[in-house]
Amino acid sequence: MLDFLGFKNLDELTNTNVPSQIRLEREMDLPQPIDEYRMLKELKQIAGKNKVYRSYIGMGYYDTIVPAVIIRNITQNIGWISQYTPYQAEISQGRLESLLNFQTMVAELTGLPTTNASLLDESTAVAEAVALASRATKRSKVMVDPFLHPQNLDLIKTRSAPLGISTVDLCIENPQLDKDVAAVVIQYPDTEGRVQNLEEIITKVHENKSLVVLVCDLMSLALLRSPGDLGADIAVGSAQRFGVPLGYGGPHAGFMAVGKNDSKNTLSRMMPGRIIGVSKDANGERALRLALQTREQHIRRDKATSNICTAQVIFFAICNILLKRRQFIVLELKLAGHTILHKDYFDTLKVQVTDINTVKKRAEQKQINLRYFADGSVGVSLDETTKAEDLINLVSVFNETSDLNEDQVMEALAEIPSPLIGNSIHARTSKFLQHPVFNSYHSEAQLVRYIKRLENKDVSLVHSMIPLGSCTMKLNASAELIPITWDSFNGIHPFAPVKQASGYQKIFKDLEKWLCEITGYDNFSLQPNSGANGEYAGLLAIRNYLIHSGQPQRNVCLIPTSAHGTNPASAQMANMRVVVVDSDHHGNINYKDLAAKAEKYSNELAAVMVTYPSTHGVFESSIKDVCDKVHEFGGQVYLDGANMNAQVGLCRPGDYGSDVSHLNLHKTFCIPHGGGGPGVGPIGVKFFEKNKVVQNFRKKHLSPFLPGHSIIPIDGRNTGAVSAAPWGSASNFILSLLPITWAYIRMMGHGGLKKASQMAILNANYMARRLEGAYRIVYKDEQGLVAHEFIIDCKPFKRSTGVEVVDIAKRLMDYGFHSPTMSWPVNDCLMIEPTESEDKAEMDRLVDALLSIREEIAMVERGELDRQINPLKMAPHTLSKVASDSWNLPYSRELAGFPKHWCHHKTWPTVGRIDDQFGDRNLVCTCPPIESYQ
Ligand SMILES: *Cc1c(COP(=O)(O)O)cnc(C)c1O
Repeated sequence: MLDFLGFKNLDELTNTNVPSQIRLEREMDLPQPIDEYRMLKELKQIAGKNKVYRSYIGMGYYDTIVPAVIIRNITQNIGWISQYTPYQAEISQGRLESLLNFQTMVAELTGLPTTNASLLDESTAVAEAVALASRATKRSKVMVDPFLHPQNLDLIKTRSAPLGISTVDLCIENPQLDKDVAAVVIQYPDTEGRVQNLEEIITKVHENKSLVVLVCDLMSLALLRSPGDLGADIAVGSAQRFGVPLGYGGPHAGFMAVGKNDSKNTLSRMMPGRIIGVSKDANGERALRLALQTREQHIRRDKATSNICTAQVIFFAICNILLKRRQFIVLELKLAGHTILHKDYFDTLKVQVTDINTVKKRAEQKQINLRYFADGSVGVSLDETTKAEDLINLVSVFNETSDLNEDQVMEALAEIPSPLIGNSIHARTSKFLQHPVFNSYHSEAQLVRYIKRLENKDVSLVHSMIPLGSCTMKLNASAELIPITWDSFNGIHPFAPVKQASGYQKIFKDLEKWLCEITGYDNFSLQPNSGANGEYAGLLAIRNYLIHSGQPQRNVCLIPTSAHGTNPASAQMANMRVVVVDSDHHGNINYKDLAAKAEKYSNELAAVMVTYPSTHGVFESSIKDVCDKVHEFGGQVYLDGANMNAQVGLCRPGDYGSDVSHLNLHKTFCIPHGGGGPGVGPIGVKFFEKNKVVQNFRKKHLSPFLPGHSIIPIDGRNTGAVSAAPWGSASNFILSLLPITWAYIRMMGHGGLKKASQMAILNANYMARRLEGAYRIVYKDEQGLVAHEFIIDCKPFKRSTGVEVVDIAKRLMDYGFHSPTMSWPVNDCLMIEPTESEDKAEMDRLVDALLSIREEIAMVERGELDRQINPLKMAPHTLSKVASDSWNLPYSRELAGFPKHWCHHKTWPTVGRIDDQFGDRNLVCTCPPIESYQ
């Protein structure tokens, strides 16, 4: 490949395209690399330092049992976790169906019809609900129940203030509602375990034309009246306890469900996040896709063919057993002389104990974590894993003289009547989980086949390279994924005392140190649980720093037109004013325009948000000048680090003038994309003393404004949390997230990491050079090179043949490939990023597919294929279409289904082209285009 490009070695190539002013001229100071075997041994040792206590802390996190069939066939199956976000719906039907199942489950349990499938955790879901309520009602005050989980209160505070939403405490018995109140937010059951009668307050809130947000425990809704039954407008929460281990904080799927609050269905239309919708394909078959605007995704209940309710029975069974065990504890604690503080509760008790210090001491001896309230009382939350043996231990913590045995416990449990909630006013009477999907797979054989059937509908990294520009779909090495089975990572409650998590803390420390060395920053926060959340945390740090240093008027954020859609959205959330900067015809930031705008807003300038290498796939030589110019006028530089895959070992944002960046560990640092999440978006910050341009900034200027946490304080960090857990999505059974990145860096060392960046750049240049001629490469640097990704122009074909970029994307499915990034950052183009993981043969295969498609376009140009009915316009072709007796298209079946020899073993799209009127322009993410923010 180097020969083909005319370079002697990798250094010669990357010295040519990485500008000399910013090049890192030394080796990174990282530990020597080790092989897979030794890495796993070392990691196991570190994991062994974690002490897994039995946790009854609750607060939204509960231990769970993950069925072996799920572990084996989904969690440990790279075919299920390495797919991309389902933007190319025709080859994502499996994931879309499983997400639709999730949405349906949430809708049925909450009793609210419209749900989404993309929230990060419970606390961010609560913050989203508050923002939604404010938008929908055009009011700016929320009343918050003080008995929310503390991390939820935290997030409401962090996220609401910049949006101008004020919060006041809610008194459920006597709410002081007024015309400014957008919503009341209530935890159900509340953080102390109480189940309250909410009928009265909900009526009052609705009379005030405000909305009701219930933060609920999904599990409890099997027994308790659902938010829909109660008349709530929005329900949010976490699906963690439905089989996702604690994992020291996540990732755990958040959810949101909304009702029909008015005739215009305002809440459904305004609901944030991704919503899976049902549509039709070109053959009239049912097909799923991401619905961005139309909120028509609910499976019609009247299509249900069965009303056997196995799943419902299971939930009732789990909940009833849970309640019996809770009742057992209640009786035993009362016997021991303690006081149970509330009357109606679900699985959580608040106990006023006779002697708190004894309880604490005995809990520690028994390796049990309880929740200790500030008022000296104790919280106990049971979960589905609490067994007779646990009950014995638990009772002995509260009663030193207790000497129960298992038989006695079982006997006592049998005597407790069931169901406990029965026909109390809190009891649920409405049905749920009626849909056949919840009632059709009764045996393991059936379930395994269903899981496999879904997997087989999707193209993932087990089939082919996924060349998505800016998304860095690289190898997720098996060795990095091994720790997903280790209980020493999975079993830790996020609010367990830090000293029980020394293994995790060691990994965090290593990672913070290594990421600092890789990026040139001085401090890192691992809390943000996505790239966009990192952007938000970084901008918030800038904003809070400016406010604290007496410059609150600085709120303008300069953002180039080419920026990722999350950039302007994050700026808005952080209460900054977006001012758009032009690009020049090379796709670079228009430096003149930037300088002019920095000067024009010199009194209000807060920050610039730039991506480097640019989203156009070029190392712009002006980057240092851009940073200097912004500093000159008192602004800070936010560098979007999603493209770090081109820079590791070659140049460092902290060196060339950036103040803060997020990294996408799920891109550059090998965490699988998991079909659209979870992710980790840590942010690094610079200590400003090192920057000579502006003298009057205090030392460590942004560090104190990194996200903190109210339950587990993080040294010196005072800004509110941006995620529910202090270290965000540390790890869990689905993916041991941070250990993956740890393992990657540990095995690569400085040399391996640098070579990875160089290979990523070589691969992109090789593919670009091979495609050149057939396709125009839209942007290159002065030397004619690209960085780690490049854009090919598909605009001319539209004029000459009517073939659009979407036709090329769909036709690639017939060749067995997932399309590159479509129409972003440039309309009617494709952006290709091969990454370092792909070998020459695989890249050649993709190039050959694209060249072959170019030839098909030429056939249309020459009139050899019809302009309307050709393999591109009709793509993708399903197997049933190609094999159908009624083939009547004016080209051959072989050309349709087997355009290349390898297509005999491809993954077939399971549906034809999906009827989807919108979205072509904005397929990268669901945020509106940047222009709409101006
Ligand atoms: C992926 C990406 C983001 C957003 O990251 P998420 O984890 O998807 O929120 C931001 N900027 C750029 C350039 C990206 O490629």
